[in-house]
Amino acid sequence: MIASTTEGLKTTIHDTVVADEATGKTVKDKVWAGGDIVTGAATVISAMGAGKRAAVDIDKFLSGK
Ligand SMILES: Cc1cc2nc3c(=O)[nH]c(=O)nc-3n(C[C@H](O)[C@H](O)[C@H](O)COP(=O)(O)OP(=O)(O)OC[C@H]3O[C@@H](n4cnc5c(N)ncnc54)[C@H](O)[C@@H]3O)c2cc1C
Repeated sequence: MIASTTEGLKTTIHDTVVADEATGKTVKDKVWAGGDIVTGAATVISAMGAGKRAAVDIDKFLSGK
């Protein structure tokens, strides 16, 4: 489980990573998450959507917006 190798991530009792639904931002600095690791087993389309939302937020972060 990624939380056991990555300090500072908040996880649930189901071993999923807690991330903001709109942006994918986790509580750990400079770490975003999405897809099955956040939602539990789901679909490719939902993982892709999370990836796109996270990419937008990472771009905002990197460009200082
Ligand atoms: C048998 C099966 C059939 C499915 N059929 C469908 C379907 O028909 N349609 C559909 O929409 N969805 C289907 N799904 C669900 C779909 O596969 C997942 O929802 C989707 O792949 C989630 O994408 P993801 O990027 O979140 O995770 P994943 O695709 O699981 O990608 C996670 C990646 O992270 C890697 N990884 C894990 N731990 C680490 C680590 N510590 N360090 C580095 N890398 C790591 C893994 O090797 C993997 O490559 C199916 C799932 C299964 C198991």
